[in-house]
Amino acid sequence: MKFIDEYRNSGAANQYGDAIARLVTRPWTIMEICGGQTHAIVKYGLDERLPEPVTLVHGPGCPVCVTPVELIDKALEIAARPEVIFCSFGDMLRVPGSGRDLLAVKAQGADVRMVYSPLDALRVARQHPDKEVVFFAVGFETTAPANAMAAYQAKRERIRNFSLLVSHMLVPPAMETILSSPDNRVQGFLAAGHVCTIMGYTEYEPIVKRHHVPIVVTGFEPLDILQGIYMCVKQLEEGRTEVENQYSRSVRREGNLPAQNIMREVFCIVPRKWRGVGVIGESGLGLSGAYADFDAERRFGAARLVEEEDSECISGLILQGQMKPHQCPAFASRCNPDHPLGATMVSSEGACAAYYKYRGTLP
Ligand code: SF4
Repeated sequence: MKFIDEYRNSGAANQYGDAIARLVTRPWTIMEICGGQTHAIVKYGLDERLPEPVTLVHGPGCPVCVTPVELIDKALEIAARPEVIFCSFGDMLRVPGSGRDLLAVKAQGADVRMVYSPLDALRVARQHPDKEVVFFAVGFETTAPANAMAAYQAKRERIRNFSLLVSHMLVPPAMETILSSPDNRVQGFLAAGHVCTIMGYTEYEPIVKRHHVPIVVTGFEPLDILQGIYMCVKQLEEGRTEVENQYSRSVRREGNLPAQNIMREVFCIVPRKWRGVGVIGESGLGLSGAYADFDAERRFGAARLVEEEDSECISGLILQGQMKPHQCPAFASRCNPDHPLGATMVSSEGACAAYYKYRGTLP
């Protein structure tokens, strides 16, 4: 198959649904890691095509959702400074910190700009040498190489007025945390195809061995996801636990080595706090010593630890697969896209946003 329509063929989707139904003999709970996969599942009703014993729960792979409140507060503080041009992907602009969001700061006169690439932010720094240009570098392994490249390029060109406010997360430690929880219900994973395009999937092999769960590297189109579920259920039913690659048109076992090299050049592994989940050791990337001059937290002061979310928001439980968005008492009433209480209602990859957009107020 070469074209998008072929990956969305309804007849083939039904055949996968039937094939999964023929396989299943008992209940299984499978987590898709990536928020992009969650949106495809809810948008195309893929979960509704599955036999009842197969339950999909939604994982923490939405970068905007897991960026901690204190980093957003720090972004707001930096963006409000008169000497700063603050650049960010559009998704982050409406994510609430402990009070307001970046759009509110912009409305009060701050120079906050939406960019499509960290290299756009670097271009802004070249154009405005009298300003401090800060890029909000959030995301998983997928966006890390481009963000690393921006820091690498800034260093090479000796651009001194450019820095990164970094909140990069790594997927495998989050999977370990989910599996190690006493409340875990996940028995198999669909790993995120784009993350694995960069990183390969050797990192998942020890997780499979330690926790005896199948992991299927999976793409993002409806038939990718259904095939990934089929492969995962097949392993579970056969008592196998392996890493398998459904997304072989993009993912190789070793991943993209040049992308990994630039990440290693610029970043080092650090502990990170995940919004709604807490601190996970060695679960993030920070700028390495050689790139410390480009660290916005060094330039403008480190983010302060703050209290967790409004207690009404259960996004931490949703991101760990323990609850679903419509089980949140605030869903579609006190929390909606116009008045979000949590980041999962804001982000284009957030599970709450997906349920709201495609299922309205379904119980
Ligand atoms: S519906 Fe709103 S309050 Fe509830 S978990 Fe989602 S973001 Fe949080």
